[in-house]
Amino acid sequence: MTEVNNTAMQEEERNVFIVRCGEAALKGQNKPYFEKMLVERIKRLLHKYEGVEVRRREGLVFVYADKKIAKDEIIHQIGKVFGVASISPAVTCEPTMEAVYATAVDYMKQLIEERGIKTFKVEAKRADKSFPVTSPEIARRVGAAVLKGCKVLKVDVHDPDVVLFVDMRSDKAYLYQQKIKGFGGLPLGTNGKGLVLLSGGIDSPVAAFMMAKRGMAIEAVHFHSYPYTSERAQQKVEELASILAIYCSRFKMHVINLLPIQEQIVMHCREEETTIMVRRFMMRIAQAVAKEKGCDMLITGESLGQVASQTSDALVCTDAVCDIPVMRPLIAMDKVDIMDIARDIDTYETSIQPYEDCCTVFLPKHPLTRPKLKRIEESESKLDVDALVKAAVESLETIEIFPR
Ligand code: ATP
Ligand code: MG
Repeated sequence: MTEVNNTAMQEEERNVFIVRCGEAALKGQNKPYFEKMLVERIKRLLHKYEGVEVRRREGLVFVYADKKIAKDEIIHQIGKVFGVASISPAVTCEPTMEAVYATAVDYMKQLIEERGIKTFKVEAKRADKSFPVTSPEIARRVGAAVLKGCKVLKVDVHDPDVVLFVDMRSDKAYLYQQKIKGFGGLPLGTNGKGLVLLSGGIDSPVAAFMMAKRGMAIEAVHFHSYPYTSERAQQKVEELASILAIYCSRFKMHVINLLPIQEQIVMHCREEETTIMVRRFMMRIAQAVAKEKGCDMLITGESLGQVASQTSDALVCTDAVCDIPVMRPLIAMDKVDIMDIARDIDTYETSIQPYEDCCTVFLPKHPLTRPKLKRIEESESKLDVDALVKAAVESLETIEIFPR
């Protein structure tokens, strides 16, 4: 992206996009901070394009892009930025009624040609309150001008083919007809850092996405049981991570072989307890990694009752080993709804590839669904928990994950 000023490139050579900041705009005194972070994120995503400028003005973000770059491409990119409520590709003109009439007629003619629209209504607002015509009056007069200039069009205030929005601002008038929804949320990096326990499944990428959407930067930890789990299984997790990085920016993924611990558990503990024991070790190790890497909390894709290790009794047992907060954004969600989000964010197809996970290695025939913390702690006392955790943390390998 290059810094371009108005004189260097005339407005008419550029497409204009109005970006609304949603919740970030409601943050009172912090508003400028959130907006600045949002602008930074948008700039970073559009960095690869020549001739793009991002500006903050009067509570909105304006993106100017060379007309050579397809509009859809820009919208697609901006739509991936957390904190963006909606995007409107707009046309602009001088902020006078005459200029707006002419621009509105041209704009509607184009829509008649492209989409065969037959009905419309106009909605107007004045960000510039010193503008001498009231908003309803602007809408009425622009409507009349469009009717005069486009004979095929009729007004329909209830169910129009197109709503033409006119936004009178001090610098320009902006005309648009679409508000394309963004993800909403808060700009990435405005809310601490979490360590996500990332498996190759459907749930944990969605959980990471949901926390990042609230502004949390992420790192990831992944456990494997090599050679029981394959290299291809790990590649799949790296692929998932690189899809996440599209939204979460590049991040670090720490990879740990859990096999030595699983072998100890299998050797010394009751078969039906292995699942919950493995989960407790995962949490302990993740917590140690989180502390070492400056992460404030853990994130998992657990959902109440989904499997044996996620019943309320099981969650009590896993939580008991954690002294930092554990975020479980999917806890009250049904699987079908989690799958819908996975499809939306493009992780689903990768998640369903059938590769083994370390949790499926040494899977007991009948895992406990109602483990009792005291019993589990008794069984665990046969293991040198601290030494096992320490060795696991020391063995971690870190991979840098880049957006796909
Ligand atoms: P799915 O349930 O869609 O198969 P999942 O990732 O949710 O995938 P679960 O067995 O339900 O798998 O595990 C619950 C949670 O534990 C996961 O969401 C994830 O946060 C964590 N987890 C499971 N396996 C691993 C792993 N191999 N590495 C890191 N975290 C894991
Ligand atoms: Mg799951």
